[in-house]
Amino acid sequence: MLKDFEFWFVVGSQYLYGPKVLDTVAARAAEMANAMNAGGKLPCKIVYKVTAKTNGEVTELVREANHNDRCAGVITWCHTFSPSKMWINGLSMLQKPYCHLATQYGEAIPNAQIDMDFMNLNQAAHGDREHGFIAARLRLPRKVIAGYWKDEAVQLRLGNWMRAAVGVAVSRNLRVMRFGDNMREVAVTEGDKVEAQIKFGWQVNTWPVGTLAETMDAVTEAEIDSLMAEYRRAYDVAANNEQAIRYQAREEIAMKKMMDEQGCKAFSNTFQDLYGMKQLPGLASQHLMAQGYGYGGEGDWKVAAMTAVMKAMSEGQPGGTAFMEDYTYHLVKGEEFSLGAHMLEVCPSIAANKPRIEVHPLGIGDREDPARLVFEGRAGKAIVVSMVDMGGRFRLICQDIECFKPPMDMPNLPVARVTWRPMPSLAAGIECWITAGGAHHTTLSYDVTAEQMRDWAAMMGIEFVHISKDSTPEKLEDDLFLKDLAWKLR
Ligand code: MN
Repeated sequence: MLKDFEFWFVVGSQYLYGPKVLDTVAARAAEMANAMNAGGKLPCKIVYKVTAKTNGEVTELVREANHNDRCAGVITWCHTFSPSKMWINGLSMLQKPYCHLATQYGEAIPNAQIDMDFMNLNQAAHGDREHGFIAARLRLPRKVIAGYWKDEAVQLRLGNWMRAAVGVAVSRNLRVMRFGDNMREVAVTEGDKVEAQIKFGWQVNTWPVGTLAETMDAVTEAEIDSLMAEYRRAYDVAANNEQAIRYQAREEIAMKKMMDEQGCKAFSNTFQDLYGMKQLPGLASQHLMAQGYGYGGEGDWKVAAMTAVMKAMSEGQPGGTAFMEDYTYHLVKGEEFSLGAHMLEVCPSIAANKPRIEVHPLGIGDREDPARLVFEGRAGKAIVVSMVDMGGRFRLICQDIECFKPPMDMPNLPVARVTWRPMPSLAAGIECWITAGGAHHTTLSYDVTAEQMRDWAAMMGIEFVHISKDSTPEKLEDDLFLKDLAWKLR
C-alpha cells in the first residue's frame, strides 16, 4: 500500500540566473530524487516534478497534486533564491501534506573553487529562508527537515514524515464498520462522528449485528477449514475445544466479508450487543487486526480508526501496532509498571513469542467460552496513543512508554498481556495522562514515533499532546490550559 503513493519534489528558483543555472538546478533535482529512491531509506517514491520559476508553475503543480490520488504530499526545496510571492496562490490552495526539505546539493564549501558564480547557484541557505517565511505567513501546517540530503538520518526523517503523510491519505478514505453501538454509559469512547469525518475523512457507520449473524450462518465449512489451516500455521493451538475455534473462524470470515464489501478497514463491536452470536469475537478480531484492520472494543470507533491509520503508517515495519488497554498497575516501590491487556482483543503483531490459541470462559457478555490468542508483548520503546473528543475539537494524546518482558507468568490470566513503564514515571505518567483526559483504550505501537503522530495531528489540524520523559504534571496542566484557550480562538 505504501508503494501506491508517491511524493512530488518541487524545486524553487527564478529566471534571474539564466538558462544554464536553471538546467543545472533541474538536473541536480532529478539526480537527488533518483539517488534518494535508490538509497532504499524511503518507504515511497520521490518524483521530481518541476523547477518552479513562476506563479503559474506553482499553481498548476498544486492543482495537479490536489487531484492526483497517488500524490500523498509535496516536498519543496530552494536550490537558488525563489521569490515567495510567486508561491502564494499555489500554496494557499494546497490540500496535500507539505514538507520543506531545507538541504543543499553539495555537502562541503569547496574552499579553493568557491566564487560568486558558485554562491549564486548554491544559495539554499537564504533561498530556503524566503520559502519558509511565506509558509509561516500563510500559517500552513508543514514539516521542516534540515540537513544534507544524502545523510541517512535526514532520509530516515523524511521517510518517517512520508509514512505520516500516507496516514493522512489513508485517513481521508477510511471507512469504519460499527457492529452495535457504544457500551452503555461510557463517555470517552463517544464522540462527534460528523466532526471526525470533517477533520479526518472517516466514514463511521453502523451495520446491524443481526446482519452479521446472518452472514455468519452463510459461511461454509470449507471456508472455515481453510482459515483453520491458516490459524494452525500462524499460531500454536493449546485448546481442546476445536468447535469454539471454528466458531471464531466463522465470525472472522463473516466480519471480513462485510467489511470488504463496504471497503471498511476498521471495525468496532460491543459485548453488550452480540445478538445471534454465541461468542464474543476474540481470535477473530485479533486475526483481523493482524491483517491490518483497525479494531476498537466496546464501540470505540475512534481507537479502531487510529489503529487502522497507524497500522497503515507502519506497514512493513517489524515492531507491531495493536489495540490496547491499560488494565492493572503494579505499584510496588521500585518495580512500578502498567499491565496492558483486554478482555480478548490484542493484536498478535506485537507478540514476543508465537501466540497460542486458548479457549476459556469470559465473565462478561453472557456467551459461550471464546477462543483467543494468548501471548506476551515484546520488549522495547513504544508509544500509546489516544484520541479524545473535547467538545468542539479532537485532542490526540501520545505517551512514550518502555515495554519489557512481563516479570510474572500470570498462569491464570488467559489473555495477551504487555507490561510497560510510561514516561516520565508510572505515577507522573498516570497523572499526565489523566490530566489530559486520555482514554483507557489506546493504540500501542513499537513502530510509529511520537514525532510522526505530531506530524499527523498537525496535518489533520487537531491538538497534539505529547507526554515524554521531560513531562511534568504541573507543566502539562499549564500547557493544556493555554492550548484550551488557543483552540477556542481558532
Ligand atoms: Mn475495553
